[in-house]
Amino acid sequence: MIARNILIHAMEDLLGSNRFKDYTINGLQVEGCERLEKIMTGVTASQALLDEAVAWEADMVLVHHGYFWKNEPVAITGMKHQRIATLLNNDINLVAYHLPLDAHPELGNNAMLAKKLGWSVEGAIDAPLGEGILFFGTPDAPMSNQAMAAHIENVLRRPPLVIEGHNRDIRKIAWCTGGAQDMISAAADAGVDAFVSGEISERTTHLAREQGISYFSAGHHATERYGIEALGNWLAAQYPITHRFVDIDNPA
Ligand SMILES: [Zn+2]
Repeated sequence: MIARNILIHAMEDLLGSNRFKDYTINGLQVEGCERLEKIMTGVTASQALLDEAVAWEADMVLVHHGYFWKNEPVAITGMKHQRIATLLNNDINLVAYHLPLDAHPELGNNAMLAKKLGWSVEGAIDAPLGEGILFFGTPDAPMSNQAMAAHIENVLRRPPLVIEGHNRDIRKIAWCTGGAQDMISAAADAGVDAFVSGEISERTTHLAREQGISYFSAGHHATERYGIEALGNWLAAQYPITHRFVDIDNPA
């Protein structure tokens, strides 16, 4: 058992979460019990994740995608009511870290994705490492677009959608997990051969072809599974809690 505030302060210090201008609240979003033992992590606080948390008797649900996004309707009705009622009725805390979890240089989504894919991190293009979310570095060996696609599919267990911007080998690569396809031009300006993110828009195809950079849309969910699990493991390594990561499958 541990006090909720100790865990939240530890995560705030680790992630430097108050440095970020974000589209949502980072930290405690819905208050539950004050002392806790069981923490469930997942990518998104969907009803399916909450149902797992209730069944497991979790005290905290810790996610990358929580609630209360900028511009979302504020009324607590329908689906939103159902989710919040599930948390309140079961005294479960909801804690979310969005951009601070993308950016963290060791446990963040970008850092963990690089680790899984064997890429070395050289820095962040948009800001110093630890604050920036557009990472760049090198694959473990130069490889063709096709070889990179096969490697990503092998590791993430999901085939990426590939837009070939050229047919030379990939030697320098940039990436940002999730829905960061519009960072492709910043990646192209930085002179990398390929950019990897989660989602793709119609315009991304033209941006890739016309700027001569290959684009890999590797899945929003698939690229963001690893940071929140790493954060849960980090908590469990130093506090008397039990951690369980639950992957609610999502093809997007
Ligand atoms: Zn995301």
